[in-house]
Amino acid sequence: MDKTDNLFDISGKVVVITGAGGILCGSIAKALAQRGAKVALLDIKKEAGDSIANEINKNGGEAISIITDVLNKQSLEKAKEGILKKIGKIDVLINGAGGNKKEATTSESLSFFDLPKDAFQFVFDLNFIGTFLPCQVFGKAFAKQKKGIIINISSMASLRVLTKVAGYSAAKSAVNNFTKWLAVHMAKEYSPQIRVNAIAPGFFLTEQNKFLLMDEKTGSQAPRGKMIIEHTPMSRYGKPEDLIGSVIWLISPASEFITGIIIPIDGGFSAYGGV
Ligand code: NAD
Repeated sequence: MDKTDNLFDISGKVVVITGAGGILCGSIAKALAQRGAKVALLDIKKEAGDSIANEINKNGGEAISIITDVLNKQSLEKAKEGILKKIGKIDVLINGAGGNKKEATTSESLSFFDLPKDAFQFVFDLNFIGTFLPCQVFGKAFAKQKKGIIINISSMASLRVLTKVAGYSAAKSAVNNFTKWLAVHMAKEYSPQIRVNAIAPGFFLTEQNKFLLMDEKTGSQAPRGKMIIEHTPMSRYGKPEDLIGSVIWLISPASEFITGIIIPIDGGFSAYGGV
């Protein structure tokens, strides 16, 4: 068989996904399971992870759901033990838990000078420490087996300056830097077969950003939403399915020589100068 025949084959891979009960990672989990991956869904909200796992298992896929807090190392260790006991191995980690919140976002009623430290820290910790800790816990298994793949979920806020979202931008920029750092560290210190990359989704209309993109009273597009579409050459928000091709590529043999990159999936937003 030609080496290129199985380029995009991900069947049998065990993929751990944090934040898997959410909109984007729930959709990624379902797509990977459809292609034969076994998925372990980690989420702080039990019902959210369970409901995606049930859907996958009902449709003939293989999924387990484990309530996990990505900010708690013990909880992550417990999840790792549970997965190894139930499925026997771990091949891939996708760090999807993350998000922003209103209290950490500047607005007409909340100036930069009044941003509460606790809210800023909450957002920074969830997005950055919530990526760092799972990389430590699951990365240790990868170091031991000298093989493994990590995909971090960054954001457009890390590549372009977006107004309002100071804490979220700082955290996702840290995720980008850490992605490159860890890619180098893992390849040089443990094995060139441990790869670390990130995707940077553009704008997807979800619970965490609805308050910024939609007018909460009328349900119509807010000025920020309109501006985003105007600055997206492809003239639309992303759909969760838009992320799947890149994720499959990053965990398949097709990307064997790729590590330390951040892929924008943004309909051209990051390329466009606005003129
Ligand atoms: P979402 O809110 O639908 O999903 C996030 C999930 O993370 C939720 O199920 C939540 O319960 C879980 N979670 C929260 N805190 C957790 C914790 N401490 N431990 C474990 N799980 C926890 O969000 P989404 O829009 O699907 O976003 C997924 C990822 O993509 C996030 O990292 C987000 O920052 C990033 N992202 C989103 C967009 C967008 O437009 N929606 C754009 C770029 C990047």
